[in-house]
Amino acid sequence: MKLSLFLLLISFNLNAAMKVALTVDDLPASGKDVKGYDRLKIVDDFTSALKKNKVKGVYGFLNGVQAVHQEKRLKVLKHWKKSGHYLGNHTFSHKGLTKSTIEEYKQEIERNESLLIDYADSIKELKVFRYTYLEEGETKEKRYGIRSYLARRNYRIAQVTLDTSDWYWLEAFSKCASKSDKEGMEKLKKSFLDYSSLNINYSDKLAKMIWGKSIPHILLMHINAFTTYVLDDFLILLKKEGVSFVDSKKHIFDKFYDEDTTFIHEHGKTYVQQALETRKLVFKNLKQPQLPKQLDTICN
Ligand SMILES: [Zn+2]
Repeated sequence: MKLSLFLLLISFNLNAAMKVALTVDDLPASGKDVKGYDRLKIVDDFTSALKKNKVKGVYGFLNGVQAVHQEKRLKVLKHWKKSGHYLGNHTFSHKGLTKSTIEEYKQEIERNESLLIDYADSIKELKVFRYTYLEEGETKEKRYGIRSYLARRNYRIAQVTLDTSDWYWLEAFSKCASKSDKEGMEKLKKSFLDYSSLNINYSDKLAKMIWGKSIPHILLMHINAFTTYVLDDFLILLKKEGVSFVDSKKHIFDKFYDEDTTFIHEHGKTYVQQALETRKLVFKNLKQPQLPKQLDTICN
């Protein structure tokens, strides 16, 4: 009894120490458009929820193809920057490295800079890079071809340790929203919150097993109709679970991420998963939560 209480206190303390930097990918228009949700209102509501929960300095990663020559979407970037957040590079057209040559991928990075430079506050700000689909190369040549290119051009790679897979709920949410089915929307929110809480706790435990200490977490989200709908409750839940948010620059530039996981794979993985696989570690008692099934039965 005493031992279990002791362990409970330890695990509570470990959770309390969880520091997280929030980042968002695919600006200015992630995922499909949802009826009744305007992109500009989405970004305004998203940043308002951040402000309400005192989450500052979020890195947003841009795909220029979603914005060039589209006045309204360029406005989304302006609103994002006006709210005090950062803009980094996520390639121009969001092609993955696995399906690109080294040359094509370099061009994708460079092409995005011409738009980023109009919105970021400095060259240093825009030179933070998030790999598309988190794919870092399926051959040694590609992995180190792109990494040495990024290093030469003073880019910092923004890794991901916590992934909510929020895109997974968008299709079902869009169906619910088009029917104004509030009950269905609330069911989806609950399903997302339950899964995220399990997944974030799993990743944090896994990281502590691998590195033997708390790590400077980086959480990946997207800005769309669904995440805007859930964001306030999501942030409140995380804070209740002991998470505190830090300016994303602090974690992205932390020397913890100087480690090269040497992960070579056609699919993208989080930094924690990369380290687990390249170290060939197996923790039998730690089971990765699975995405909930049959979301499509909601609002049918
Ligand atoms: Zn992306």
